[in-house]
Parts: sequence; C-alpha cells; structure tokens
Amino acid sequence: MRLILFGPPGVGKGTQAKLLSEEFGVPHISTGDMLRDAVASGTDLGGKAKAIIDAGQLVPDDVMIDAVKEVLNSPKVNRGFILDGFPRTLEQAKALAKIFDDLSIQDYKMVNLEIDDEEIIRRLGNRLVCENDGKIYNMEVDGVTTDSPCPDCGGRLIQRDDDKEETVRNRLKVYHSSTAPVLYYYKEGGDMYVVDGSGSIDIVNREIKMIVKGTGV
Ligand code: AMP
Repeated sequence: MRLILFGPPGVGKGTQAKLLSEEFGVPHISTGDMLRDAVASGTDLGGKAKAIIDAGQLVPDDVMIDAVKEVLNSPKVNRGFILDGFPRTLEQAKALAKIFDDLSIQDYKMVNLEIDDEEIIRRLGNRLVCENDGKIYNMEVDGVTTDSPCPDCGGRLIQRDDDKEETVRNRLKVYHSSTAPVLYYYKEGGDMYVVDGSGSIDIVNREIKMIVKGTGV
C-alpha cells in the first residue's frame, strides 16, 4: 500500500493515516510529526522549525525533501507507506516524482480530502493531542478537555501551539497559496481521488479503503 493523503490542515489526514497504518500494517510518515519530534528532542532542525511552525508557515523545501527522501529510501517502507503532509508545494511534488522515479515506484494512490475553511477552524479549535501517544481527539465529539487524561494511555491532552485560531488562519492562507496549486500537478496526471473530509471518521476511512482496494473512485 502506497498512499499519499492530501488536503488542508485539520481535514483529518493524521487521524486517517493513523487508522490505516494500524489496519494495513504500513508506516505513517507525517512530515508534521517528524518536525514536532525534532522540536521535542531539541535537534538543529527542531530549533529552526519551531518558529516557522508556530507562525503557520512552511519549512523550506530542501529540508523537507531531504527528510522525506531519507525515509522513503529506508527499509521501513518496504511494505508501503502512508504519506501525510507532503508534498505541500509544487517543488516538493516534483521532488517526490523524482524520488519515486529513482526508486521505480509507479504504483501509488493519492487521496485529496476536501473540507471548507470554517469547518477547519472549528475542528482545529476543538482538537487536542495526547502528549504521550500522539492520538488526536476532538473536544466536542469525544467529550475530552485539557483536564482529562488521554482515554487510551492516560497521557496529558494538549492543544498544539499552531492550532490557535490566528495561526490556523495563517496555515489556511499558506494552504490556498502554496499547497492547493499542487492539486493541478496531480490532476493533470489523473492520479488524484477526492473524498469529502467532512464525513465521520468511519465514513472517510471506508471511502479511502475502497480507493486503496480499487473498488471505488
Ligand atoms: P502538519 O502536522 O502536517 O499540519 O504540519 C505542521 C506544520 O509543520 C506545518 O504547518 C508546517 O509548518 C510544517 N510542515 C509539515 N509538513 C511540511 C512540508 N511538507 N513542508 C513544509 N512545512 C511542513
């Protein structure tokens, strides 16, 4: 299974990628998680990325391309992968095509999760993440708050700094100016499937699986 999940911040790429990763036993490669790990462990990359992420801007292409190239060249993706958060610019899309070419990867699917901006602002305002296991919760849907423990592991639930409303609005601007144009790159090649991201987690999960298994378009 080689799947690229595309779509605006907050549409549910991370949630879906985690589910599919468990169901299909292939790694979830999230460039956002890679950067957050780098920030948490205080690496050079983390030091540079923190301010960019908190401002809702994009980390430079060459940094992200090198990071993704390294993972896609590692044995951990032998059985496939779910890519979440990359490519986010035309430059990254072209670099990914080159990486796939070099690795003789022809067989992959790309799913674009669609949702409108107001729903994103609402969802991200309600999103909490477990500091310990990374699971994602929605305060409205899951009935959790920053005072409750993670229902799965008891870890602390926090709001991501970049989920504050002002940053979310910046992330959306960046999405529309730099990331959405990437869609045309794939649409021209006919490689893109579209799923309505406003449905429930279960429905979206089912639709992606139909695409992955080749029983849906
Ligand atoms: P995410 O968790 O995918 O929403 O990513 C969080 C933040 O990490 C983004 O708002 C960007 O600042 C940064 N980031 C993640 N992936 C990329 C990428 N492919 N290119 C540039 N910046 C990225």
